[in-house]
Amino acid sequence: MTKGRGAKVRIATLAAASILPGACQYMPALPALPSFGPQAPPAICSGAGLSVDVDFAAAGHHTCVVSPTGEVVVQVNHEPTVSEGLNPSPWFAFRVTAKEATATTVTLDYTDYTHRYVPWTSRDGRAWEKLPADKLTLNERKTRATLTLDLQPGQTLISGQPVSSAADNVDWTRKALSGRDFNEQKYGVSREGRDLIGFTGGGGIEAIVVLTRQHPPETSGQDAYRAFVERLVTRNDEKAFSFRGRHRIIIAPMPNPDGVDNGNWRLNSGGVDLNRDWGKFTQPETKALSDWILSQAGDKRVVAMMDFHSTDKTVIYAPPLDSPSPTIGFLPALKQSLDKNLPYAPDWNYNHNPTTGTSKGWALEALKAPGITVELWDQISTADARKLGVATADALIEYFSR
Ligand SMILES: [Zn+2]
Repeated sequence: MTKGRGAKVRIATLAAASILPGACQYMPALPALPSFGPQAPPAICSGAGLSVDVDFAAAGHHTCVVSPTGEVVVQVNHEPTVSEGLNPSPWFAFRVTAKEATATTVTLDYTDYTHRYVPWTSRDGRAWEKLPADKLTLNERKTRATLTLDLQPGQTLISGQPVSSAADNVDWTRKALSGRDFNEQKYGVSREGRDLIGFTGGGGIEAIVVLTRQHPPETSGQDAYRAFVERLVTRNDEKAFSFRGRHRIIIAPMPNPDGVDNGNWRLNSGGVDLNRDWGKFTQPETKALSDWILSQAGDKRVVAMMDFHSTDKTVIYAPPLDSPSPTIGFLPALKQSLDKNLPYAPDWNYNHNPTTGTSKGWALEALKAPGITVELWDQISTADARKLGVATADALIEYFSR
């Protein structure tokens, strides 16, 4: 691991392990559990030597049934929502435990919604495989997806993306920033009492704000976030040193821990889309985060607020190029850099509506900074998501170290 200049350890280092390129990105705590008998996790359905449970962080909202011949049907339900019309992000994550090797099917029943996420499977919650296309069939309305599986004895996790709990991205960020003169702060508490954790480092007269995971299933955005943060703090040249000397870096890796750990599709535990709550601040998570950002930015000029998400394509939402912000010129520089350095050119969408309650709109209103919502295609490869993260960090360093 490359050391930053004058690095001092101010935050707890969990482990001496380095962040290795290509190391597994997802390491949630999923201990192998005894599957049957008194120590087994409570099953939501069982039969024919199979048992299904949701006894881990970020597991979905499911009920299920096992047929007499061992076919499993899992209903994919969403969290309670205050407003009608939930974004169609049908997240699923559950564990099937088999007494013995079993060839069977698992059908995901989306009820009123349609299939979106290609399933992933894992035996241990660390190494994940995408289900091959020929192992998945959809009904005509795409409201049911049937997975053909050769289950091994013991546990198999099945989920819409590799599972990454709330603690996972906080831990990842803590390790990535360890020894780089960052401070860790608890800036608030979620509705259900989970700590809201932020990190700040670097210094000078300007600041940048970085967020991800406001929306629980959006882990390809988190992949880009990780590459972005790594690049921002490890790039090792004069421009990068100058950038870090001049900019306070304000990072919120997990603004919606209740939604993530409850396996929600979109909302926090109050049934609210947090990225429609900025400016209104009806929820403790957005209220605490915005207060913390303002306090950490102080009188520094915020040059940009980057918020990493996922959707059905890779697209960047930004304010119009004539917006009243002294750093609006970063947007064309970023576009030029991404167009030049990526194997694909992301779409751009320019708009500003301060009433929609997005972090992006709030950034322009409250910080006079371009709020940039970076959306990664939810089926993008981790490698391509990371390229966008690296290219975005490089564009920032190049533009603002001039
Ligand atoms: Zn989102």
